[in-house]
Amino acid sequence: MIFKRREMALCLYLAFCFLSGVFLPHPLWAADEPSKELKGFLEALEQRNGRYGWKDLQCGSIPWEYHRTTRNRHPLIFAHFGKPSDDCILFLGGVHGDELPTVYLMLKLARYIKDNPQVVKNKCIVIAPLVNPDGYLAPSPTRVNATGVDVNRNFPTRRWQPDAHSQWVTKSGKNRRYYPGPKAGSEQETLFQVALIKRFKPQKILSAHSPLNFFDYDGPSSDLDSFEQWMEKISREANHPLKKFGYYPGSLGNYAGRERNIFTLTLELPTSNPKLGEEYFHKFQPAFLKFIHLPVTGTPPFTRLVKSGTR
Ligand SMILES: [Zn+2]
Repeated sequence: MIFKRREMALCLYLAFCFLSGVFLPHPLWAADEPSKELKGFLEALEQRNGRYGWKDLQCGSIPWEYHRTTRNRHPLIFAHFGKPSDDCILFLGGVHGDELPTVYLMLKLARYIKDNPQVVKNKCIVIAPLVNPDGYLAPSPTRVNATGVDVNRNFPTRRWQPDAHSQWVTKSGKNRRYYPGPKAGSEQETLFQVALIKRFKPQKILSAHSPLNFFDYDGPSSDLDSFEQWMEKISREANHPLKKFGYYPGSLGNYAGRERNIFTLTLELPTSNPKLGEEYFHKFQPAFLKFIHLPVTGTPPFTRLVKSGTR
C-alpha cells in the first residue's frame, strides 16, 4: 500500500514537471534568436500590415522582446533602445485593436529609432507597438481584447473596485466596447503595461489612440501648469488640438499620470483610417522627438520637469 502511494506521488510529481514545462511563462527572447512563436507572430503581423499598404516597416529586424502572451497566444512584444538610464520614455500603440494607424505609428517609430540610434544617445526608449494583438489581428479588428475587455479600463487604480463597474453602467450604458473586466488587472495586456512601467520606471509615457483628435495629458499635479504650457506649444506646432479629457477608473492616465506622477501624454489621432498611417507619422514625428527630449528629472513618483525646459 505504501509502495502504491509512493508510485502515485512520483506520477503526480512527473506530471507536474511536464505541465510546468509546457505552461510556465515564456522565457526571454530577443530578435537575434527569435522563437518560432515570435517568427510566426511577426509573419502574421506583416501579413495584416500588408492589407493596409504598410510596406516600409520591416518589423523582423527590430530587436523585439516578449515575456508573456495573450489568450490567443500572441506575444506581447516591445523593443528597448539605448541604455537603461534615469531618462526613460515609454511609447504604446494598438492598446485598442481597431485603432489601426496607432500601430503603424509605433512600428514606424521603432524603425526610425533603429535606423537613427543617435536619437537615443543617453536615453532609454521602450516601444510596445501592439498592446492588444488579439483585437488587432481579429478577422474584423476590435477595440477590446479576446476576452472582451477594454484593456485601458483594467489598470489596478485605487478606486477601481467601487467605481469601474458602476461607471461602466452609468456612463456607457454597459457598452461592451468599454467593459473594464471582471477585476482590476485581470488582463495580460494590462499586466504587460504595468510590468513595463515597473521594470523601466519611465518618466514619460506616450500612448497613441484614435479617432478623437486631440492631445491629452496627466502627470505630477504640481508641474501640470508648466506641462500644460509645454503641451500648448507642441499642440500649436503640430496643429493638433489640446483637450483635458479626464480619466477613468482603470485607465493609463489615472494609473501612471495621476497615481504615479509619470508625465503621460495621450495622442488621439483624427481618424482610425490605416491608409493615413504614414501621413500621421510625418505630422507627429517632431512632437515625438520633442517629447523624448523634454527634460525631466527624478524617478516616479518624484518626477519633475527641469525648469529651463518648460519655457
Ligand atoms: Zn483608444
